[in-house]
Amino acid sequence: MATFAEQQLDEALIKPFRSGLRGTLMRPGDDGYDAARRVWNGRIDRKPTLIVSCVGVADVIQAVKFARVNNLEISVRGSGHNVTGNAVCDGGIMIDLSAMRGVRVDPQLRTVRAQAGATWGEFDHETQAFGLATTGARISTTGIAGVTLGGGYGWLMRKYGLAIDNLRSVDVVTADGGFIMVSNGENADLFWGIRGGGGNFGIVTSFEYQLHPVGPMITGGMAFYPVVEAKELLYRYREFMATARDELTALFNFFSTLPPAPFVPAHLRGVPVVAIAVCHIGSIEDGRRELAPLREFAQPLIDRIRPMPYTTLQRLFDAAGVFGCQVHSQSGHLAELSDNAIETLVAHAAHITSPLSIVMISSLGGAVGRVGENDTAFSHRHVRYDYAIDSVWTDHRESRRHMEWTDDFGKAMRVFSSGTYVNELGDEGEERVRAAYNPTTYAQLVALKNKYDPGNLFHLNQNIKPTVG
Ligand SMILES: Cc1cc2nc3c(=O)[nH]c(=O)nc-3n(C[C@H](O)[C@H](O)[C@H](O)COP(=O)(O)OP(=O)(O)OC[C@H]3O[C@@H](n4cnc5c(N)ncnc54)[C@H](O)[C@@H]3O)c2cc1C
Repeated sequence: MATFAEQQLDEALIKPFRSGLRGTLMRPGDDGYDAARRVWNGRIDRKPTLIVSCVGVADVIQAVKFARVNNLEISVRGSGHNVTGNAVCDGGIMIDLSAMRGVRVDPQLRTVRAQAGATWGEFDHETQAFGLATTGARISTTGIAGVTLGGGYGWLMRKYGLAIDNLRSVDVVTADGGFIMVSNGENADLFWGIRGGGGNFGIVTSFEYQLHPVGPMITGGMAFYPVVEAKELLYRYREFMATARDELTALFNFFSTLPPAPFVPAHLRGVPVVAIAVCHIGSIEDGRRELAPLREFAQPLIDRIRPMPYTTLQRLFDAAGVFGCQVHSQSGHLAELSDNAIETLVAHAAHITSPLSIVMISSLGGAVGRVGENDTAFSHRHVRYDYAIDSVWTDHRESRRHMEWTDDFGKAMRVFSSGTYVNELGDEGEERVRAAYNPTTYAQLVALKNKYDPGNLFHLNQNIKPTVG
């Protein structure tokens, strides 16, 4: 139902707004409107009153000012991957950054500036042309913006830290429609909060990162094992990661069955499996040596670990990130992968309800834990593991079954959890947002919100509520 403010948005108001934009303004019924309002999670079906497809900072400023004056709710869309669908609002104005995808590498300084609509696939494509990379998400269609603002997990994090640990500066359009540059040297308080505090404080229009020499060839891929070996494999995985060098990381995954991929022989199709996915960014020789113990865990059904381009590894899970599926998830951090946590993982994952679902255990540690707990707004740096139970299915009539399995599993895992990762949260309420931060950080984020967005203009996110305004 349109609000009173939205009903008053007649053409007389829209026309000057539209002509002041370089990008496109869309209303319901316009060409491109329905495609623009779709996000990765097919369960989200919201209809903004206006969608502004921005092509530059000026459009973002215009859109924020127009929203303020006309009392419109704002949502901000990067690549639309967040499970909550907060990128799109019902009524209101969706500020869509997905057309802003420029990426400029400085190979001498090993830095890159990327616009906020770029995906990690586009980012890696540009930086790998110079043999450079920084930590970024493991599905190529995920957006640099949402991922970075919440922290940013990726294959390189044990060596180079989270995406935010490589951030040098950002450009921000503020709640009053102003524009500021933000770094350790300018607006340093906001720079602290941007690194983990999500989209609470303004709209970031571009990000500057430090890059590192990576690849182009690394050792990576996945080895698949029979699901009956899951428990024993998890014990071995835990042991392996306890002494792994920072160059090496491994994820433990539960799937329902082997995927119907060309590399899967017909007799193995549909076989329930677990998989260990790895990335080693040292020399190919070091990779072979350091991965040797993993190869002795058990006999894999299929071993796809081999030298490959870093950009290929960054697409390893792309098939699990198909746009428009129904998605529901539960997640959390684990200070340790205890025997009881392993028992619970194995018991619940055995009943996985959809062939598209995945349960992923990521190993943190290394450089992630060497940054001080309060140096950025990302909390829980000491934890060793993260788990994400991502239920994915296509038929909305089956939703109840998949969601119940996910929630039961999530509830069982919660007793082992030490907080959570803000980017993996669903629409779970204020208590869970607080669980993403330590109390000191949360209080500091509230103070920043009071300073930069006291009216909570940017509230369609994992919201830090202001206490003034
Ligand atoms: C398939 C899949 C794989 C994933 N893999 C990883 C992974 O490997 N590592 C990891 O860390 N996370 C991963 N995630 C989680 C991911 O970090 C979040 O979903 C993230 O929010 C996605 O960013 P986006 O820009 O694509 O999302 P969007 O849905 O476009 O944005 C999410 C929210 O971020 C805010 N936002 C976006 N852009 C801006 C901006 N420019 N300025 C201010 N606020 C903004 C808004 O509040 C918006 O609602 C994955 C998610 C999915 C669905």
